Amino acid sequence: MARYIGPVCRLCRREGMKLFLKGERCYTEKCAIEKRNFAPGQHGKTRKAKLAGYGLQLREKQKVKRIYGVLEDQFRGYFEEAERTRGVTGVTLLQLLERRLDNVIYRLGLSTSRAQARQLVRHGHYLINGKKVDIPSYSLKQGDVISILGRSQKNPTIEHAMQEVKGRGIPEWLSFDSGSLSGRVVSMPTREQINLPVQEQLIVELYSK
Ligand code: SF4
Repeated sequence: MARYIGPVCRLCRREGMKLFLKGERCYTEKCAIEKRNFAPGQHGKTRKAKLAGYGLQLREKQKVKRIYGVLEDQFRGYFEEAERTRGVTGVTLLQLLERRLDNVIYRLGLSTSRAQARQLVRHGHYLINGKKVDIPSYSLKQGDVISILGRSQKNPTIEHAMQEVKGRGIPEWLSFDSGSLSGRVVSMPTREQINLPVQEQLIVELYSK
C-alpha cells in the first residue's frame, strides 16, 4: 500500500496546526509548529493568503487525509462509501476513518502515533476477536475486541508506547482493560467523540462540485 514517506512535520506546517503525526515529539518543544509555525518553502513566512471557497475546502480535505495517513484514492473511496451510507456524509466519513484498525490502536494508547500503529499492525502484533489481522485499514465494528498477540505483549515498542501515552485517555466509544491488554469497540463514534478540529462539511462541498 502506497504511503507518504516525506518529512511529516512539513505537513503540519503546511496546515498551520499540530496534526500529531510523530508521536512523542509532538508533545515536546521540539515540535516544528512550536518552533517554526509558518508554511514550508521559500515564501512560507510571507505567504499569508486568506483562504476562502475552494482553497479552504481543499485545505480541510488535506488536513483530514494527513491526520489519518490516507492517500487520495483511498480517501475518495471512503467518501464514496460515506455518500452511499445513510446519515450525514461528512460525519460518516469521519466515522469510517476513526474505525480503521490503525486509528483504533492509536486511540487505545497502544502506539504513539497512527504511523507507528500502521507499522505494528502490518507486523502482525494484534488480534481482532482472537484472529490475527495485519491490515491497517481494517474497519472495526461495535463489539470487536482488539488484543495484543501473546508474544508481542513484551514487544519493547508496544511497551514503550503504552508507557509514553499513559494518562492521555481514550475516547468514550472504546474501552481498554489493562489486565488483559485488550480493547473493545463499545459503540460507534459520534461526531462529538471524534475530537478533531475539522469542518467535514467543507470536504463534502469539495467533492460535490
Ligand atoms: Fe506535527 Fe508532531 Fe512534527 Fe509537531 S512534531 S510538527 S505535531 S508531526
